[in-house]
Amino acid sequence: MKSRISLKPCPFCGAEVKIINGLYNVTYFMCTHKECRAIVSFGGDKQISSNGREAENPVGNFNRRTDKEDNNGR
Ligand SMILES: [Zn+2]
Repeated sequence: MKSRISLKPCPFCGAEVKIINGLYNVTYFMCTHKECRAIVSFGGDKQISSNGREAENPVGNFNRRTDKEDNNGR
């Protein structure tokens, strides 16, 4: 049974992102755009396997976006 988690699009290119269970069971978010392929993970203190730690809520972290629009353009 798969839980359907809604993810925001890639912050770099806007393409769809999928979740991958990577090394040490860490949650990775991989962009599906063939010229982007960004991979994001969130470090933290939650022990998820013998050698793996990650953030308490990686999906929440991924979906959390800054509201600030200013790029402080210098
Ligand atoms: Zn992307």
